[in-house]
Amino acid sequence: MADDVTTTPAVLILLGPPGAGKGTQARMLEERFGLVQLSTGDLLRAAVAAGTPAGLAAKAVMEAGGLVSDEIVLAILRDRMAQPDVRAGVILDGFPRTAGQAEALDDLLAHLGARVTAAISLEVDDEAMIARVAGRYTCAKCGEGYHDQFKIPAVAGVCDKCGGTEFKRRADDNADTARARLEAYHAQTAPLIAHYRALGVLEEIDAMGSIDAIAEGLGSIVSRVSA
Ligand code: ADP
Repeated sequence: MADDVTTTPAVLILLGPPGAGKGTQARMLEERFGLVQLSTGDLLRAAVAAGTPAGLAAKAVMEAGGLVSDEIVLAILRDRMAQPDVRAGVILDGFPRTAGQAEALDDLLAHLGARVTAAISLEVDDEAMIARVAGRYTCAKCGEGYHDQFKIPAVAGVCDKCGGTEFKRRADDNADTARARLEAYHAQTAPLIAHYRALGVLEEIDAMGSIDAIAEGLGSIVSRVSA
């Protein structure tokens, strides 16, 4: 987001516990509205895979289901926000996750002459989230999400979207770690709902329905707030 932009790009935040569908929905919004999905989880996993100093510091915390330090996450996010493609507007998925990150984001945006357009809270049931997270996996080629029970590829072992035949499962997508991540969400991230309500940009959506129904609801919110 450069200083010289004349129209303020949308800054959308998706809030919700692990498994709420933030990544799936962010990818759908990205396609529909031409926005850029920015997932700190994906950026951190890339840093871990690349073995960068930030990745090495983050790895054990992520595998235990805790939160990576604000310092590391903010450094990674600032680098990403400096890329020119984010001028199209961003969907923040998995960020901010702490009060410190929310304040840092407000400051960063104020510096760029922008502000949070909307923070959308995906309202879900905790126990259902554990079941979702513990069974999920993705296509290694295109990133399409699947689930052992809830979303099986039409042809076993073949991605519906790109035909890929390799799949991957995150190291932290198991029942124990999912529970730790849910606790971290309630302790450190859920309080941000009040922060965005106070700023007048909070939107809430029931996210226990089908992927398409949630996408439709989110699409109406995004059309309304970015009009
Ligand atoms: P989920 O939303 O399903 O928990 P993510 O891919 O967003 O998954 O994050 C995976 C892990 O990466 C988190 O459990 C945490 O350890 C780390 N992480 C991601 N984003 C942040 C953040 N903004 N602050 C701190 N840690 C983060």
